[in-house]
Amino acid sequence: MTPSPVGTPSTGSAPSPAFSTLPLPDHVLDNLQRLGYERMTPIQAASLPLALAGRDLIAQAKTGSGKTAAFALPLLANLNPRRFAVQALVLCPTRELAEQVSQEIRRLARADDNVKVLTLCGGATMRPQLASLAHGAHVVVGTPGRILDHLGRASLGLEAVNTWVLDEADRMLDMGFADDIAAIAQQLPPTTQRQTLLFSATYPDDVARLAARYLREPQEVRLTERHAASQIRERYYQVTEDQRLHAVGLLLNHFRPESTLAFCNTKQQCRDLVAVLQAEGIVALELHGDLEQRDRDQVLVQFANRSCSVLVATDVAARGLDIARLEAVINVDITPDAQVHTHRIGRTGRAGESGLVFNLASLDEMGRVGRIDEMQGRESVWHPLAELQAASAHDDAARGPLRPPMVTLQILGGRKEKIRAGDVLGALTKDLGLDAASIGKIDVNDFSTYVAVQRDVADRALRGLNAGKVKGRSVKVRRL
Ligand code: AMP
Repeated sequence: MTPSPVGTPSTGSAPSPAFSTLPLPDHVLDNLQRLGYERMTPIQAASLPLALAGRDLIAQAKTGSGKTAAFALPLLANLNPRRFAVQALVLCPTRELAEQVSQEIRRLARADDNVKVLTLCGGATMRPQLASLAHGAHVVVGTPGRILDHLGRASLGLEAVNTWVLDEADRMLDMGFADDIAAIAQQLPPTTQRQTLLFSATYPDDVARLAARYLREPQEVRLTERHAASQIRERYYQVTEDQRLHAVGLLLNHFRPESTLAFCNTKQQCRDLVAVLQAEGIVALELHGDLEQRDRDQVLVQFANRSCSVLVATDVAARGLDIARLEAVINVDITPDAQVHTHRIGRTGRAGESGLVFNLASLDEMGRVGRIDEMQGRESVWHPLAELQAASAHDDAARGPLRPPMVTLQILGGRKEKIRAGDVLGALTKDLGLDAASIGKIDVNDFSTYVAVQRDVADRALRGLNAGKVKGRSVKVRRL
């Protein structure tokens, strides 16, 4: 069956319709409003009417487009919270994406009573997952390998699933999950008894085959790319090896992006760069493959809540990373693979926002730059490093080094202690009298809670929390 395309161009000037045009109950619409979702994003406007009418979908959408809500609202609409069985299964390529998807589903499900969303990913210990499954869940979000593991142990049953979502299908196939997906599909009710929603950023042949196999008369939703390349401003600076790491600090202090991802070709280079930046007073953290999952989560929380200016990573360590609102990408080294370069720079300038890309290239790397130019079909734009060096004295005197707007406080205690974001917010605003506007993201993990607060109230919040109570209990809090 050939899918019928119903793509809606997103470049038009007409505003997206409001959520109230959808057949959603009032309490769901109220919750969307509380979340600040006023109008649908283009992918939501194109997919939600079809998906809420029960159609299978192939939707081409990237992270940052609002795609999670485009499948989460339909799966919640199909769900009966009074029935204690897994009714929706979402497969994701990575643990990080699965965590984000779970969080978004939980936010969207707040309007419904007691919808339990469970994340099942590899890399986490089995025992708590088994315990949570024994307690029952309505929605399971996970990576294919671990889901299959649970099916093998019969700790998870899929017979009541009425919505199956394949998120980032192209990446799951790239990561070699095709067989796992097939094995999972065998345990799902047949296509006539479920709704299947496939999301993918690209649509190569193997994704088309996957769709042909598991979807029933799917509608295809494609969005024309929103000014793809032109949103990204890319500049090259020629550097010598001893200028390279210092040049990163010059760029940051000059352009002052709030969130930057810096790519290095080697782990050693990552380590050196973090040391140089920290010595210059810039808050930089390294994301490397050897980190324990808990440390990795901690790094990512600090970056996402704007208390770390720069995340430094190799391509391998950054794999599977999904960050909305990344203002700049710095290629500290030029990658030998032009395709990898495209991947790196595609992480900024998302969802219609503009992005900055800075490339530092030595004479030895000019061949690589040539290949990138060829692939992009445009000429690289060069600026002299001296321009930044000249500005730097002035920048430093006027503004000081780049500082992130927020600071992260870690509360030793999390979901296991039944702490919720609202408890922390209450302690900070009601008990300590802080302005809600000075409090940023609150991430509650199993054993820790991370709260971002504005730098100027960080000390007060830290002292207050340590002296006071959260959820009626004294807590230990430290500044990260
Ligand atoms: P996603 O592409 O699903 O990762 O979503 C990107 C971000 O946009 C998430 O932080 C969502 O919470 C947010 N978002 C999704 N839909 C809307 C909307 N209609 N209005 C405002 N924000 C939204």
